[in-house]
Amino acid sequence: MHVDKKDEALDGVKCIVNTCHYHVEGDYCSAAEIEIQPRNATTTEETDCATFRPLHEQSMR
Ligand code: SF4
Repeated sequence: MHVDKKDEALDGVKCIVNTCHYHVEGDYCSAAEIEIQPRNATTTEETDCATFRPLHEQSMR
């Protein structure tokens, strides 16, 4: 899933994953949208951001 990186951070989202392409200073996310998985998760640890992209990854297109 290709998601655009915006100039502004996503309102109400704090993310400390500083190795993500979308992470911005202050622990914000600059992705246009994010998707969290999986359905039917039962613990905090089980959930993941599916929008995550490694910081130094080249274009995926
Ligand atoms: S895409 Fe997900 S992992 Fe990356 S900064 Fe945004 S919320 Fe964090």
